[in-house]
Amino acid sequence: MTDFAATKAMFHLPEGVIYLDGNSLGPLPRAAPARMDAVMRAEWGEMLITGWNKAGWMAQPVELGDRIARLIGAEAGHVVLGDTLSIKVHQALASALEMVPDRRVILSDSGNFPSDLYMAEGLIGTLDKGLELRVVAPEEVEANITEDVAVLMITEVDYRTGRLHDMARLTRKAHEVGAITVWDLAHTAGATVVDVAGAGADFAVGCTYKYLNGGPGAPAFIYVAPRHADTARPALSGWLGHDAPFAFEQSYRAGPGIERMRVGTPPVLAMAALECALDIWDMTTMAAVRARSIDLTELFIEKIEAACPMLELASPRDPAARGSQVSFRFADGYAAIQALVARGVIGDFRAPDIMRFGFTPLYMDESDVQAAAGIIAEVMQNRLWDAPEYQTRARVT
Ligand SMILES: *Cc1c(COP(=O)(O)O)cnc(C)c1O
Repeated sequence: MTDFAATKAMFHLPEGVIYLDGNSLGPLPRAAPARMDAVMRAEWGEMLITGWNKAGWMAQPVELGDRIARLIGAEAGHVVLGDTLSIKVHQALASALEMVPDRRVILSDSGNFPSDLYMAEGLIGTLDKGLELRVVAPEEVEANITEDVAVLMITEVDYRTGRLHDMARLTRKAHEVGAITVWDLAHTAGATVVDVAGAGADFAVGCTYKYLNGGPGAPAFIYVAPRHADTARPALSGWLGHDAPFAFEQSYRAGPGIERMRVGTPPVLAMAALECALDIWDMTTMAAVRARSIDLTELFIEKIEAACPMLELASPRDPAARGSQVSFRFADGYAAIQALVARGVIGDFRAPDIMRFGFTPLYMDESDVQAAAGIIAEVMQNRLWDAPEYQTRARVT
C-alpha cells in the first residue's frame, strides 16, 4: 500500500494552485533544493574534478537508469540516462534502422509528437538512402505493419488525447514481419503500467521531466533490449559510449551493453534533482499509481461531463485505453485554459482545440479533482474565458 498523503507532502506546490500539468512538467520535490545545494557546494565546490569518481557522478546515468527501469518494466542494467528525448529518438531510430538495412520504411502515426516525426525526417535526409517516413492514423497502425517496414516508431500514449497503444500486440506484429520497434514512453513513464521487457520492445526512450518530476531540462533515458545490447551500433558514437573512454583511442569501439548508448558528459546537476524525484518513486509501485490514476480520471470525466456540456471528451472513455491524462475539445480552448490558469487550475492547451489535464496520483487526490472540476464548471458556464486578456498566445502554450 502506498501512502499517497506522504508522497504528496514531498512535493512543493504553490499556494492556491491545482496542478493538472504534471504531464508536461512535474513539480518540485521538496528535497531537491537542498540536494542541489549540497551537490554544488560539497561536491562540485570542494571536490572539483575528483567528483567524477569520489561523488560517483560518472556512474549515475546507469544507476539512475536502473531506478527508472523498475518503473517501465525493463531489465536492470538496460536503461541509461542522457541527452534530451529528441536526441534519444534519433539515436534509437538510427540504431534500429541499421538492424534492417534492406528495408526502407519507418512507420509512425499522426498521434506521435512532432519532434519524433521531425527527427525521423532529419535522419532520413542525413542518411540519404531513400528511406520513407510513413505516417498513418493511430487506428491504422496495426494494418500497416507490413513486410516493407524497417522500424515501427510509436509513442505509446498520444500527447493530445491520451489514447494508449497496445505495445505488446503491435510489437508482436512488428516482429512477425521482421521489423524493429522504437517505443517512445514520454507520456507513459510514471503514468501507466508498462512492461517493455514483457512486450518485447527492442528500443524504448522517454523523458524524466514530465510524470517522473525530474525538473526542467532533466535528462532523457534509453532502453535497449538485452538481446541487442551488445550488438546495436550506437549511432551517436560519443566518447562516453566508448569501450575505454579514458584510453583516448583514435577510433571508436562501442562499450559494453547499455553503456554504449551514452554520448557525452552527463548532466550532474540535473541528475541531482532527478534523484530526489526518484526517491519519491521508490515509495510506490506503478500498479498502485495506475489504479489511483484511473480513479481520479474517472471522477474528473464524470464531474466535467455533468457540468460542462460544451466540452467534448477527446480522450478514450475506456480507462484501459487511455494514459493518465484527460482532454476535451473546445473551439476557444486556448482562452479557456488561460482563464483557468488565472484561477489557479493549471492545465494546458494543445493546438488546434485541445484542453489537456494531467493526473498525477503522487501529489493529487480526490479533493483536488473536485475543486478543479468546480472551477472549470464556473469558467465554462459563465464564459469567463471570453475576455481580451485570455486571447493572446504566449511563446510556450
Ligand atoms: C515531450 C516529448 C518530447 C520532447 O522531447 P525533448 O527533446 O525532451 O524536448 C519528444 N517526444 C514526445 C513523444 C514527447 O511527448
